[in-house]
Amino acid sequence: MQENRKTNTEGEYRDEAAKARFTTTESRDLKSMTLEELTDVMKENGFPAFRAKQLYRWMHVSLAREYSEMTNIPNKMAEQLSREYPLTTVRVIDRQISKIDGTQKYLFAMRDDSLVESVFMRYKFGNSVCISSQVGCRMGCKFCASTLDGLFRSLTPSEMLEQIYEIRRVTGERISHVVVMGTGEPLDNYDHLVRFLRLLTDENGLNISQRNVTVSTCGIVPRIYDLANERLSITLALSLHAVTDEKRREIMPIAYQYTIAELMEAGRYYFDRTGRQVTFEYSLIRDVNDSAQDAQMLADLAKPLGAHINLIPVNPVKERGYRQTQEAGVLAFKKKLEKRGINVSIRRVLGRDIDGACGQLRHRHLEGSGHEGGVQLEV
Ligand code: SAH
Repeated sequence: MQENRKTNTEGEYRDEAAKARFTTTESRDLKSMTLEELTDVMKENGFPAFRAKQLYRWMHVSLAREYSEMTNIPNKMAEQLSREYPLTTVRVIDRQISKIDGTQKYLFAMRDDSLVESVFMRYKFGNSVCISSQVGCRMGCKFCASTLDGLFRSLTPSEMLEQIYEIRRVTGERISHVVVMGTGEPLDNYDHLVRFLRLLTDENGLNISQRNVTVSTCGIVPRIYDLANERLSITLALSLHAVTDEKRREIMPIAYQYTIAELMEAGRYYFDRTGRQVTFEYSLIRDVNDSAQDAQMLADLAKPLGAHINLIPVNPVKERGYRQTQEAGVLAFKKKLEKRGINVSIRRVLGRDIDGACGQLRHRHLEGSGHEGGVQLEV
């Protein structure tokens, strides 16, 4: 459609092919566009440029779901836009609220009925939303429920934003923190992720501070370098979960592609380039990765990077046989790290009563329906 649309893409796309993919397949998705791109679309449709600012504000600040809500947009224009540029929204299919701590777990349907999960959590420092970046996942981590059904597709920037926007609409509460730690591997959806991050933290949009955004990855090393070069001040969390390549390969197929040494080097580069300390995520699995020697080697990896370590007692997934390290073991593991001067936190387990591990709510909804297949990453 728009042949020569100018895009302000500096640093936004890895290469021309990625840019072309966006412009050809998603150029009707106004909610995934920068203000500059939106301005071009307005001009191409014969609307004055100031309409772009109005639309952008309605979509990203007022969080309108429909053009008809946009009171300063003429009816005829709203009708034309809703025909030609349908607004991306998500539908709440299920919501569970924890009686213990008020954590809310959402199951959202996209326009094609794909399902993703998001979580709303209240902390002392503010409200946080955990979003999904893909429908399913092809990384195949052995302890993770999100990957059980394989990857169906990646989410668009607007679909990532809408998970946050819809939770904001439903709860009416301000959201100050966002973590990309739901279903999917964000760096396996790199271009959309970066676009999403820029829109989310845009001062003309919801304006969430980049420092309050965390992206968690199983460790796609080349994309970590790319992300470091984006000039974003977001926190990077590396899902480590094992301290030797051998053991990591047993539980995370990605470890066949990149060694821990390569991952550490990429983490170092990220830190040097952005000034943001990286976090290691380490899910404690009983008798698999929770020995005293594991703690010592983990400290050796974290020390040179100044990395913060997030310990997560593994959430048992019924399809997998792993068991949690018992509480005393978790505390002992933490102490060992702290003795070596490492900054450690144990992830507060929120919403215990609603649905344990990531991906379980969606997985349960899919079981029996069989309408969604996917592929596993083969290594
Ligand atoms: N793909 C990204 C983000 C998704 S999951 C990544 O791998 O980082 C967010 C974190 O939860 C990751 O560290 C992941 O390894 C961890 N995780 C997944 N399933 C888990 C489970 N059952 N118990 C504990 N942690 C789990």
